[in-house]
Amino acid sequence: MPFDGLVIATGGEARTLPNQPRLAGVYTLRTLDDSEAIRAALEKKPRVAVIGAGFIGAEVAASARQLGLDVTMIEAMETPLALSLGPRLGGLLRAAHERRGVRVLCGRKVERFEGADHVRALHLDDGRRVECDLAVVGIGMTPSVSWLEGSGVELENGVRCDETLATSVPHIVAAGDVANWYNPLFEERMRVEHWTNAVEQSRHAIGTLLAAPGQTKPFESVPMFWSDQFDIKIQGVGRPRPTDELIVTGSQEDEKLVAVYGREGRLVGAVAFNQPPKLIQLRMLIGRRGGVDEALKIAES
Ligand SMILES: Cc1cc2nc3c(=O)[nH]c(=O)nc-3n(C[C@H](O)[C@H](O)[C@H](O)COP(=O)(O)OP(=O)(O)OC[C@H]3O[C@@H](n4cnc5c(N)ncnc54)[C@H](O)[C@@H]3O)c2cc1C
Repeated sequence: MPFDGLVIATGGEARTLPNQPRLAGVYTLRTLDDSEAIRAALEKKPRVAVIGAGFIGAEVAASARQLGLDVTMIEAMETPLALSLGPRLGGLLRAAHERRGVRVLCGRKVERFEGADHVRALHLDDGRRVECDLAVVGIGMTPSVSWLEGSGVELENGVRCDETLATSVPHIVAAGDVANWYNPLFEERMRVEHWTNAVEQSRHAIGTLLAAPGQTKPFESVPMFWSDQFDIKIQGVGRPRPTDELIVTGSQEDEKLVAVYGREGRLVGAVAFNQPPKLIQLRMLIGRRGGVDEALKIAES
């Protein structure tokens, strides 16, 4: 199909555990079909194992536990959501899952599935065996770019874009989970796998495609995510790193808190449990390159 302008928005595919037989009862979660298949399987009241405690894994574990099921969540890093929240908040989330009856095994990798045609158990790298009738693999996604190989569009952890979301080929832009672009606000390249980013980038990418020469603008955005796990509404904004200064305000016992991440006095991220309005204000503050002091006033107000 010939085109004058093209938007690449092919998202990604769920990763699977390598070198494993295809067994019934093992699922990934990316599409509506995946979701409906998992829901139907949960109705049979299986013992559930969740591999990976990122957003998808932690949400599946919480949902299955809320249905009263026996749930074990296995995570290779030291806490759930260690990359998105950092180890301290990840530790709080782990405690929240454990308080509600999820068995959480961190620092452990799943080596293989056991089962003839249906999964019966998982084997971990410490020799442990976890029995299960249903396993959900939530170990991340791979950007869908194989169809672009040899096309001339430069690929690097997705589609490599400049700060305006333009690719290496004129009149082709990218948006959403597949776009790896340079975000001037944080002075780094990033690929963001969240819904708000996909919406905001698609608007911006079209602007780049239609702009007159020399009139394009950089996509300077503050990434934003949310996740509902049990009765905890988790929201995050910005681009925190493990090395950032972290100040946690509020009540950890009541699971109502705001964590503020600073770099040389500048606010670079914030995560909240059950505090929605504050995160919107903190997102705007990050966009204005605001400071940690001002962020703490918002967090503690
Ligand atoms: C289970 C789940 C829960 C999530 N929950 C949240 C949440 O609570 N909050 C949040 O912020 N984000 C959430 N996300 C992330 C959010 O859904 C994604 O960031 C968003 O969908 C990305 O949109 P996209 O259009 O870039 O990619 P996608 O939604 O992946 O869409 C890409 C589409 O392109 C199609 N495609 C791929 N290759 C081709 C091809 N060669 N030709 C034609 N079509 C192709 C795919 O089939 C797909 O339909 C969740 C994601 C998942 C999987």
